Amino acid sequence: TRAEPVLVDDAMLRQWPLPMPAAEGDKEERGKVLVIAGSREIAGAAILSGIGVLRAGAGKLAIATAESVAPLLAQAIPEARVIGLPETKSGDLAGAAAADRIGGIIGRYGALLVGPGMQNEEAVCDFTAALLPYLDGRPLLLDASAMSVVRKQEGKPACVSRFESPALLTPHAGEMAHLTGADKQEVLDDPVRAALDAARRWNAVVALKGAVTHIAAPDGRLWRHEGGNVGLATSGSGDTLAGIIAGLMARGAPLEQACIWGVALHARAGERLCRRHGPLGYLAREILDEIPALMHGLR
Ligand code: AMP
Ligand code: MG
Repeated sequence: TRAEPVLVDDAMLRQWPLPMPAAEGDKEERGKVLVIAGSREIAGAAILSGIGVLRAGAGKLAIATAESVAPLLAQAIPEARVIGLPETKSGDLAGAAAADRIGGIIGRYGALLVGPGMQNEEAVCDFTAALLPYLDGRPLLLDASAMSVVRKQEGKPACVSRFESPALLTPHAGEMAHLTGADKQEVLDDPVRAALDAARRWNAVVALKGAVTHIAAPDGRLWRHEGGNVGLATSGSGDTLAGIIAGLMARGAPLEQACIWGVALHARAGERLCRRHGPLGYLAREILDEIPALMHGLR
């Protein structure tokens, strides 16, 4: 049997308010995020997700990325601490060597985002798997190629069959198919099933993204969000979503709440941009500028 999904709308969001910092709070208390993202060719994904963290209201941002692009990121986001890590020839993080370098400082952060703009699946998988033992119960958001830690490679088991600490994955239908070995069409035919099966199997919250986004928790709870517009199907859009969600996680929202609020804010930002510019041609980075006012309006 399958529970009826809860519809995500304004009334539902208002009944589930985000945690707010104390009026006298400092930036340490407002939530600290470590974003591990970007590679030589897709450094911009780290910028989009990093700024998403801050636009969602978290107090402090650190970005760890391939050392060849770290200086560029530091210039692009003066608000962030930027940490350069050892990289492969292709400009991705170098597996366990990179994980061991960053592992020691994970304890400073309240939430982690790994994956946007990281390219080589094998390198990213090695890196992410080596990072997990350092987490010590911290909530983790995996996006893009970092999600492949749950994928069974040819003749090999997956690096991770079940998460032991709180984890959230944000695949679109194509990524979900790739991770599970299903056809994309199978995923599209029964997206609720796909999200729910994945959440149970991996012991993770799963947001299956699309024009409708289905969010499933490992205990079988389900949410359905419909909104936004086709302009959100643009390069960098998912990176902004991942950053927004990670920022909300660091503010203390439970994974499901951070995910649902992030999806709703991202879609509403698309709706506002569509009213201003039409459905096509707005940029992923512009989504981010809309977030604070939207969030404030949904108190
Ligand atoms: P990604 O594919 O990772 O860049 O993520 C794309 C983001 O845009 C996800 O949050 C999707 O839910 C959203 N999105 C993609 N296509 C549409 C659409 N046709 N209508 C509304 N939202 C969409
Ligand atoms: Mg994506």
